[in-house]
Amino acid sequence: MNALQLTQPQHPLQLVEVERPQVTPDTIIVKVHTCGVCHTDLHVVDGELPHPTLPLIPGHEVVGTVVEVGAEVNQHRIGERVGVGWLHQADLTCAYCTEGHENLCEAARWTGYTANGGYAEYVRVPAPFAYPIPDVFTDVEAAPLLCAGVVGYRSIKVSDLQHGERLGIYGFGASGHIVIQVARYWGCEVYVFTRSAEHKALAHELGAVWVGSAHDQPPQPLDRAIIFAPAGWIVPLALAHLRKGGTLCINAIHMSDIPAMPYELLWHERTIRTVANATRADALEFLPLAAQIPVQVATQTFDFRQANQVLERVRQSQINGAAVLQF
Ligand SMILES: [Zn+2]
Ligand SMILES: [Zn+2]
Repeated sequence: MNALQLTQPQHPLQLVEVERPQVTPDTIIVKVHTCGVCHTDLHVVDGELPHPTLPLIPGHEVVGTVVEVGAEVNQHRIGERVGVGWLHQADLTCAYCTEGHENLCEAARWTGYTANGGYAEYVRVPAPFAYPIPDVFTDVEAAPLLCAGVVGYRSIKVSDLQHGERLGIYGFGASGHIVIQVARYWGCEVYVFTRSAEHKALAHELGAVWVGSAHDQPPQPLDRAIIFAPAGWIVPLALAHLRKGGTLCINAIHMSDIPAMPYELLWHERTIRTVANATRADALEFLPLAAQIPVQVATQTFDFRQANQVLERVRQSQINGAAVLQF
């Protein structure tokens, strides 16, 4: 099969022909239709995440059709359309897994990082970690839901956002533009902080009540805030925008250092929480919710052979919404 492979971090992906993965008793083989390009792919390619399994096929927003099913698999059938996200596999037996935190499992593997991902014609997936895709979404629309959407949804949960509250979103890329739609569906007022003119326009279009930059003071104190930009300098600014008792949720697998800040920014029972990865429950809750809303996914589609150029455009924040590779 054709695949895009990372052989050495900080080098471009190479288009190679490799052996198609073989099915095993507890896995399925998925023929890939589309694969979203997530900001985390950049961190993998740039060598900012330690110990990727090389050579590696990146990509963890995979949508495709099940073409082979292992002998022990009963939750999937051939011909079914499924999605695959960042959580490739967890042992499902450790203390984290048994309390529903398989996103924290020490034995977990990550799609497109420590297991081969979707920048290829086929991918092998452990059966419990593939999710049915609602019919309302095309293959292109569904791809960004698998990470930008699912992890964005987990951020909303971790931020403890309640219906009708004021939510701040810092960084308005693939996740932010999906999160705002869930928050609006719940009757929340959304305040968006971004520098990009295109992202500002999209935020207005999707119903933000206020749009500014992280240095601007919003007109009202915020109940909850989510940072999607991997920029530590935003943390003290975002805390200064929060009401007493408010929650700041940081959604970043990698972030520049947070500068020293006065304690009073955190005082009055403000909370900082981080989001790591996502669970199967997040995916199984979010995908039907996204269909019910229904979430409008802004996408830009590219031929999969253009992956290197697309990664560069993601780096420059030149994608409005989400970039999706098509096969
Ligand atoms: Zn991702
Ligand atoms: Zn575990």
